[in-house]
Amino acid sequence: MALVLDGNRIRDEILEGCRPRLERLSAAGGAPGLAVILAGSNPASEIYVRNKIKACQALGIYSEKLAPPQTVTTAEVLELVEGLNRRPEIDGILVQLPLPSQVDAKRVLLAIAPEKDVDGLHPLNLGKLMNNTPGPRPCTPAGILELLKRYRIPIHGQNAVVVGRSDMVGKPVALLLLHEHATVTICHSRTKNLPAVCARADLLLAAMGRPAFLTADFIQPGATVVDVGINRISSREECARIFRDSPEKLAAFDRNGSVLVGDVHPLDVAERAAAYTPVPGSVGPLTIAMLMVNTIQAAERRLLETC
Ligand code: NDP
Repeated sequence: MALVLDGNRIRDEILEGCRPRLERLSAAGGAPGLAVILAGSNPASEIYVRNKIKACQALGIYSEKLAPPQTVTTAEVLELVEGLNRRPEIDGILVQLPLPSQVDAKRVLLAIAPEKDVDGLHPLNLGKLMNNTPGPRPCTPAGILELLKRYRIPIHGQNAVVVGRSDMVGKPVALLLLHEHATVTICHSRTKNLPAVCARADLLLAAMGRPAFLTADFIQPGATVVDVGINRISSREECARIFRDSPEKLAAFDRNGSVLVGDVHPLDVAERAAAYTPVPGSVGPLTIAMLMVNTIQAAERRLLETC
């Protein structure tokens, strides 16, 4: 039976570890502050931001949401970021991506003060990731590393294959694995013979955004598989095909009008892997936990000057 890597349990452990740090900050007379910019209306982003703010509230981290309309311009978002850069009680600024298409996301990320960049996506912080020097790491990749380490999954010397080369997930997780001495291959849509490359992986990480794409022949028996993908299936036929007519999944589909699936085939991975992350309930909760950690670390730099 494959081991299911439980992201909710690891999230709770990470958040528990935040509490003494928050108490120290409180004793020093402060609390961390996080500001989230959510531009326009994107239902998935709205859910992510709501969950981030809920996590702040549960820990006693001050949070605020700025929600400019869909028609916002680059200049207007830059003005919001610059205002937040100037406010000392705001330790972290998170710009929820994707931004509306007319907004220049690269310029916006560049405008965030690097010490307030709790998403770790400012080029200066990406440079620190590249150099392996201290700094905020992008939250999803950092959460994946926490999960692997806390489950004591070997990384050192292992063949790791990352499918996806985005700036937010694929590239940074590949660097983090490299720093842990894995032998890393990064794949993308132009990779030749993807099944054979993936089937050599001791550690397979999928960050593609393609529902149930990695089927049995991509998975080496006994591999550890981390599925970052979150894909909403709103066709009953597709749900029946992916879950091979599972009555429970079809009942869930009929109740909700959709189901979530990762980039890895959910039934194949359970049969072939030694350990895997389920979707939903694994990588998503860790992303939020690491955002809290990055925000606390930024506040510690401001209030305790220990980092
Ligand atoms: P992007 O769309 O930015 O990147 C997708 C990557 O997958 C690209 O590099 C692309 O290659 C590659 N790809 C797409 N199709 C194929 C294919 N057929 N074969 C090989 N490679 C392919 O996505 P993100 O990295 O932002 O996100 C990936 C997934 O992770 C999404 O489902 C997203 O929702 C989810 N996600 C989940 C998070 C969480 O907290 N759980 C956080 C962030 C993302 P190319 O570069 O050649 O186009």
